[in-house]
Amino acid sequence: MKSLKENFQKAHIVIIGSGIIGKFNALELSELGLQITIIDPSQRQNSSNAALGLLMGNMYQKRRGRSWDLRKQSIELWPRWITFLQKFNYELNIEKPLIQLTTNEEKFKKLEKFIYESNDQNLRILERDSIFINNINKTFQTKNIKGMISFRDGRINAFSLLQTLDKYLKHKKVNHLQEEIIKIRKSNNQWISTTRNNENIKSNMVILCNSLKAIDLIDSLSHNIKLKPVLGQAMEIDINDAEVDLLSLPKQFNINGKNIIPKSKNKLIIGSTDEYSTKPKEDTFEKLTNFLDKKPDWLMEGKISKKWYGIRSRPDGEPSPIMKNLEKGLVVCTGFYKNGILLAPACSKWVANEVKNYLF
Ligand SMILES: Cc1cc2nc3c(=O)[nH]c(=O)nc-3n(C[C@H](O)[C@H](O)[C@H](O)COP(=O)(O)OP(=O)(O)OC[C@H]3O[C@@H](n4cnc5c(N)ncnc54)[C@H](O)[C@@H]3O)c2cc1C
Repeated sequence: MKSLKENFQKAHIVIIGSGIIGKFNALELSELGLQITIIDPSQRQNSSNAALGLLMGNMYQKRRGRSWDLRKQSIELWPRWITFLQKFNYELNIEKPLIQLTTNEEKFKKLEKFIYESNDQNLRILERDSIFINNINKTFQTKNIKGMISFRDGRINAFSLLQTLDKYLKHKKVNHLQEEIIKIRKSNNQWISTTRNNENIKSNMVILCNSLKAIDLIDSLSHNIKLKPVLGQAMEIDINDAEVDLLSLPKQFNINGKNIIPKSKNKLIIGSTDEYSTKPKEDTFEKLTNFLDKKPDWLMEGKISKKWYGIRSRPDGEPSPIMKNLEKGLVVCTGFYKNGILLAPACSKWVANEVKNYLF
C-alpha cells in the first residue's frame, strides 16, 4: 500500500493565474512536493507586473484584526523566503527602511499616537532636523513635512521577484501552460479545467488566483463573491534641474499617500492612483503629482518618460483579500486590491494549509 506521503506527492494541483499570488502559491505548494500546473494566457500583463513593491507591513496603523494578522505573518515570512529565493537570484532583496510622510497635522498626530501605543523600536517619528526631513524639505521646497520611519518595512523590486519565481518554477519543472481557462467542473472526484482551445486538464484541486476573472469560473451568486476593478497607474518622471539631486532623498517613501522611488539623480517613480475603471484616465501626471499644496518647479516641469498601469480586483461587500474554500478541492485566493506583493507569503501559507487539510 502506498504511504500517505506518496499519495500526497502524486496529487496534481492546478493554479489558474500566474500573477504574484499564483506564482507564490506554486512556490509554496512545490516545496511540499506536490505536482503543480500553473495556467495563464498572458502572465506579463497583470497587476503584479505594475506593482512598485512597497511592503507596508509594520507601519499599518492597526494591531489587531484579519488584515493585521496577514501583514504580521507576511513580515515574519518574507526574510525566510528572500534567503530561499536568493539561491536563484542573489540580488533579490528587501530595501529598507520605509518612510511615511504627511503635511496634515491631524494625520501626524495619529501617527504619533500609533507609534507611542505600538511601543515598537522599529517604528520612530522622524526628528524635525533629521537628514531625511531636511533633504525632503529642501527638495520639495516645503517646511511642514513630518512623518515616521519603519526599519522593518521596505521595498522589493516586484519585477525582479516575479522573474526569480519563474526561475525557481522552471528549476522545479513546474508545468506552465499559456492558456486561458474558460470553465472548471468537477467529475468523479477530479477537477477538469477547460482551456479556450478545448483542452481538458485534470487535477485533484484547483486554486483560483486569476484576480477579477475568478468570478467567471465559479457560481459567484451562490458563493456570494463580488469583485470590482480598481485601476492603478504609476509613472517614471525625468527632471531637468541641476540644483536637484533626487538621490539625496530616501530610497523609498510616501508623501500624503503617493509612493515615491528615486531612480537616479534626475529620475523618479511615483505611484499609484485608485481609479474605479478599466481604462486609465488621461490626467496621470496631475493625479500623481498633486500630493503637496504647491508643487516644486522641478516636478511641475518634469516629463513622463514611462507610464504603466495594472487592474486590481477589489472585493465588494467584504474585506480584501478573499481567501475561501469554495467546495471540496476548490480554493479561491483573489481580491488583492492592494498589498498583493506584501501579503503573498501569508496567503500562500493559508492555501498550503487548505491543500494539506483536503488531501490528507
Ligand atoms: C500601479 C500599482 C502599484 C502597486 N504597488 C504595490 C506595492 O507597492 N506593494 C504591494 O504589495 N502591492 C502593490 N500593488 C498591488 C499588487 O500589484 C496586487 O495586489 C497584486 O499584483 C495582485 O496579484 P494577483 O496575482 O492577485 O493578480 P494579477 O497580477 O492581476 O494576476 C492575475 C493573473 O490571472 C490571469 N488570468 C485571468 N483570467 C484567467 C483565466 N481565465 N485563465 C488563466 N489565467 C487567467 C491574468 O492573465 C493574470 O496574469 C500595486 C498595483 C498597481 C497597479
